Amino acid sequence: RAILDQGEGYQLYQSTLSNEAAERLILEGELRLALQGEGQLVLHYQPQADLGSGKVVGLEALVRWNHPRLGLVPPAQFIPLAESCGLIIKLGEQVLRMACHQAAAWQRAGLPPVTVAVNLAAAQWSQSNLLAIVKSALAESGLDPQWLELELTESTSMHDPSATIKVMANLRAMGVHMSIDDFGTGYCNLNYLKRFPVDKLKIDRSFVMEITTDPDDLAISRTVVAIAHQLRLEVVAEGVETEGQLALLADAGCDLIQGYFFSRPLAVEACTALLSAGTTLSAGRRQRYNRTL
Ligand code: C2E
Ligand code: MG
Ligand code: MG
Ligand code: MG
Repeated sequence: RAILDQGEGYQLYQSTLSNEAAERLILEGELRLALQGEGQLVLHYQPQADLGSGKVVGLEALVRWNHPRLGLVPPAQFIPLAESCGLIIKLGEQVLRMACHQAAAWQRAGLPPVTVAVNLAAAQWSQSNLLAIVKSALAESGLDPQWLELELTESTSMHDPSATIKVMANLRAMGVHMSIDDFGTGYCNLNYLKRFPVDKLKIDRSFVMEITTDPDDLAISRTVVAIAHQLRLEVVAEGVETEGQLALLADAGCDLIQGYFFSRPLAVEACTALLSAGTTLSAGRRQRYNRTL
C-alpha cells in the first residue's frame, strides 16, 4: 500500500504496466484454451523452389492463430509469449503433428512428395522426449521420415551445442532431415557447424533484402554458399521478393529459394492447388501466385 502513496507518476506507470500485464495474461489464457481445443492453430505452408529445376521441393510450415476476436494472428505475436509461459512445448508438438498429417495426406492424395519443414523452438530442442514425440508424430501420420525436416535457428543451435548434436544424430539416424534457420544472425561457431548433422543452411532474409544494392550483403551471401557447399550442405535463401534478388542468388549458387517472389505462405487449399498444378518457379513468375492467392 505504501508504495501507492508515492505520487501520481508512479501510479500512472503502475496502471500502464498492469494493463499490459493483464493483456498478456488474457492472451496467455486464450492460448492455453486454444491448445486444448481444435482448429484455432492453423498452418500455412510456404513453398521452397529448386533453382535448377524450378520445381517446388519443399514447404515450410508456419503457424498462425485463428483467434476468435483478433482474427489471424501472426507467430511473432504469440510464439514469444508461448515461449515465456512454457506453452511452446505443447504448441510445438501440435504443429509437428499437424504438419506430418498434412504432408502424409498430400502424398496419399497422389501429389508429388515434397519435404515439409517444421520450426522447433529452443525449448523443444532441449526437451528430453523430443525424439519420442517426433517418432510418434511420424508413426501416427504414416509420413516417411525422409520427408520431414526440422529447423533450428542459428542462435538456438548455440545454446547447448554438444547436447543438440546428440539429439540431431538420433534424429538423423531415424531418417529425419534438419536445417539451420536464420543463418548469419546468430553466433554459429564453424567448429560446431562442421559437426551439426544438418542438410541445409537458410540464409537469413536480412542479407537478401538489400542484396541488389549492398555489395557487402552479396559478398556475405556468396561466402555462406561457398562454406555450405564445401560442407556438403544445401543453401536456401529466405525472403526473396524480387527477380533481381533471385538472379543474384542464383548466380551465387544458391540451391533453393523461398520468398514472396515465388509464393507467400499458403493456406492448405491454396497449397494443394499449387502442388497439383505442378507450378514451377518460372510459371510462378508469370502467374504471380503471391498476388492471386
Ligand atoms: P522463419 O522460420 O524465419 O520463417 C520465415 C518468415 O519469413 C515467415 O514469417 C514468412 O512468412 C516470412 N517470409 C517469407 N518470405 C518472405 C518475403 O519474401 N518477404 C518477407 N517480408 N517475409 C517473408 P512468419 O510466418 O510470420 O513467421 C515468423 C517467424 O515465426 C518464423 O521465422 C519462425 O521463427 C516463427 N515461427 C513460425 N511458425 C513457427 C512454429 O510453428 N514454431 C516456432 N517455434 N516458430 C515458428
Ligand atoms: Mg523457419
Ligand atoms: Mg528463417
Ligand atoms: Mg528469418
